Amino acid sequence: MNGYFITGTDTDVGKTLATAALLRALLDAGRRAVALKPVQTGCPERDGRLVAEDPTVYSRFTEEYFPGGYPEACCRKFVPACSPHLAAEMAGETLDPDELAAGLEALGHGYDTVLVEGAGGCAVPLGNGRTMLDLMQRLDLPVIVVADNRLGVVNHALMTVETLRGHGLDVAGVVMTNATPPTEGDAWLRRDNVKTIAEMSGAPILADIPHLPGAPVAEVTAHAARALDRLPQPRPVDGGLDFDRDHIWHPYTSALEPLPVNKVRSARGTRIVLDDGRELIDGMASWWCAIHGYAHPELTRAARAQLGRMPHVMFGGLTHDPAIGLCRDLLDMAPDGLEHVFLADSGSVSVEAAIKMALQYMQARGQTERTRLFTVRGGYHGDTCGAMSVCDPDNGMHHLFSGLLPKQIFAPVPDCPFHAPFDPECFRETERIFRERSGEIAAIIVEPIVQGAGGMRFYHPEYLRRLRRLADEHDVLLILDEIATGFGRTGKLFACEWGGVTPDILCVGKALTGGTMTLAAVLATGDVARTISADGGVFMHGPTFMGNPLACAVARASLGILRSTDWRAQVHAVEGWLKESFGPCRELPGVADVRVLGAIGVVEMENPVNVPGLQRFFVDHGVWLRPFGRLIYAMPPYIINRPETARLGAAVRDAITARAHL
Ligand SMILES: *Cc1c(COP(=O)(O)O)cnc(C)c1O
Repeated sequence: MNGYFITGTDTDVGKTLATAALLRALLDAGRRAVALKPVQTGCPERDGRLVAEDPTVYSRFTEEYFPGGYPEACCRKFVPACSPHLAAEMAGETLDPDELAAGLEALGHGYDTVLVEGAGGCAVPLGNGRTMLDLMQRLDLPVIVVADNRLGVVNHALMTVETLRGHGLDVAGVVMTNATPPTEGDAWLRRDNVKTIAEMSGAPILADIPHLPGAPVAEVTAHAARALDRLPQPRPVDGGLDFDRDHIWHPYTSALEPLPVNKVRSARGTRIVLDDGRELIDGMASWWCAIHGYAHPELTRAARAQLGRMPHVMFGGLTHDPAIGLCRDLLDMAPDGLEHVFLADSGSVSVEAAIKMALQYMQARGQTERTRLFTVRGGYHGDTCGAMSVCDPDNGMHHLFSGLLPKQIFAPVPDCPFHAPFDPECFRETERIFRERSGEIAAIIVEPIVQGAGGMRFYHPEYLRRLRRLADEHDVLLILDEIATGFGRTGKLFACEWGGVTPDILCVGKALTGGTMTLAAVLATGDVARTISADGGVFMHGPTFMGNPLACAVARASLGILRSTDWRAQVHAVEGWLKESFGPCRELPGVADVRVLGAIGVVEMENPVNVPGLQRFFVDHGVWLRPFGRLIYAMPPYIINRPETARLGAAVRDAITARAHL
């Protein structure tokens, strides 16, 4: 839908008159235009039908263009003259922004320019915690603000423009009306209002419609028509893709022959909206992060509030409530025994910090020969050097950086599926390594239960329990990398809970801020912290953006959402739906295995898949999944519902049936 959303700084500011005059000006300029209302309250009932008042004004301005009468202009009409949420409640109905947006799309079908006139100001409630802003975000049209030039208008206009921009909406400009009759000698005040609003909001004054008793159509339209030349041109769809291809690196790509990318305009809940307006159901949660869905209002609110107070301050010698509150909450939620938190700026950096903690721990104990890490093959811990050194040596990047990476000690992939009985044979090699080399080992580092980016394998909790025992027997530390699995993804808050295991050092990241921004943390036991710090020792790490208050505030809000929602039930439900919709893939040719744990669904193919081919197929089928290697998998936001999950599964089945993976 192309057009503008028209909102007021308040009710009774002349919004309907301005809308009608703009509509007429557009029609006069040769556009196929229409003005619509999502909700109209105060509609008297005549002959069993509700009569909306605003469209009669549109009609008066556009009689010549709609000789058969003005078309239906309102999605919803209510009798009482009150706020939409109250009118709907009294009628026993609800106002859903998605449904209103769909209704407007339908009414606006066939027009090239649609003016959507809101009801009152932009924060007018629709019920269920939603406001007109939610509808505006869904429609994503540039917004025209109508302001009546009267006492207080500067305040209201500036607040409205600021609020709209804070919600990611484009403000096309301000239309001043003079609905309140001028008084003798206030012309200079009114002139200053216009000037001040223009200067302070930075939004153009599109038109200044004088007070015209009786609102004569031709005269009001002539004033409103000035706006047409000042309205911004629509943003080009897919603009910038050439620049992107020529100059911007994307993850793991060639600068010369990058894989195609899709341009995203916005993301909300379980939906990613592309620049061309197509909506994709998100099956990736942006690499495990967006567990509550995109643009969760509580996360956005926390970010906005912290942004207004203090986006950042150094953490050396200073501290602040967002960090204190977050660390307190993290220690409350984490397995018992973890007592100290180190905040890092990304998962990889938290892994570096964890590795350094382990080495400093051994040095502090005088065990300077313990400098290596033990891990299993098939792991992934990040892209920085220490982290790369413990990634799978074959899938990972060891061959490229072998001169740089420390040599670590690898056991085979844990060959003990989560859902099968545990076979002790899978642990023999690990035990042997420890018998022979434990004197060199400072720590074990693994992803508990789920090996993520290294192959999406789910291994048996007994393996994890045995690692814990081995660590204790040989006096080495156990580092668990829960960057992918933390915060509910596997059905437990932390995946180590499947084995009842507490690590000495725990890394969290990814979902920590609910997918809003980058932040990670390393949690350590009292023993680790005390040993490193004995005899005046200090832990040698301190990123510039350590403890970033903005990220901490959002992370705290995300943990708050986990605490206040039944995420366990959600993840459990998603698990069932993933089994239901991905399970049938087992029967398809070329499929090696299908497995589901918590909100993770994996279809493993026999051969590496054609990533660009599948990517295109999925986008064309309205879903966002990004396969890698032999894996087509989903780890959607926990708020995904059954029909959406079914569409993810159907898209995967259809892709394999259509051989899009070849
Ligand atoms: C993603 C990931 C990392 C790296 O985190 P970044 O924020 O990408 O640096 C480390 N470990 C695991 C298990 C991960 O999934």
